[in-house]
Amino acid sequence: MPTNTNQPDTQNIASKPVVFILDCDNTLLDNDALKADMDRQLRALLGDAGVVRFWEVYEATRKERDVVDLPHTFAHLREEHAFDDTTLAHAERIVMDYPFATRLYPATLVVLQRLHTLGRPVIVSDGEEVYQPRKIEQSGLAAAVDGQVAIYQHKEDHLDEIEARWPASYYVMIDDKARILAETKRRQSDLFVTIHLAQGHYAGEAASPAPDVSLAGIGDLLTFDFAGLPRFLKKP
Ligand SMILES: [Mg+2]
Repeated sequence: MPTNTNQPDTQNIASKPVVFILDCDNTLLDNDALKADMDRQLRALLGDAGVVRFWEVYEATRKERDVVDLPHTFAHLREEHAFDDTTLAHAERIVMDYPFATRLYPATLVVLQRLHTLGRPVIVSDGEEVYQPRKIEQSGLAAAVDGQVAIYQHKEDHLDEIEARWPASYYVMIDDKARILAETKRRQSDLFVTIHLAQGHYAGEAASPAPDVSLAGIGDLLTFDFAGLPRFLKKP
């Protein structure tokens, strides 16, 4: 137990683990490459017009549900008889049975191993409740964080639940979306340090406040010095 009563913050930091809140898509797993490959396979199956219709329904469903929702996308395609049943079933297998593990960034699993030596890595991903957990499990990511996974529609609206589930001296949120990091920092600047990874199609998006740390990609976390991060915590 720490004994230096002159530094209560240090004592608190020493008594609970650092918890790393990692995003999935375009943070641990190259979701842009996955979608491009999915598009290529669906185009071969459905044809050019068919794949256009698929993505139209995907976007309409995303707007309707306020989150990417592939199971509901397929439900809508089924309702509107956009394709015959056999073709649609084939398309659904391409999407739901995708070999997700092949899309992990090369450094991902080694980075997670390193984070286990520094604290507790967990995955908090935006998404719906069927496809997204399946992706995280079948990619091997769930096992790599001992099953510590949470899925929300908008994670920044659930910081209280995250803090209750994984008590921490402080949190390091790692995400490809600067907007989510900014929103988190605005709400809990005394508890969250934010690290932006400039990967994927959101990489260039700016947000205010800017992330505490900006890195080019997940591989940079292999050698990153985490020891100095508490300086980014605003005193409550
Ligand atoms: Mg992401």
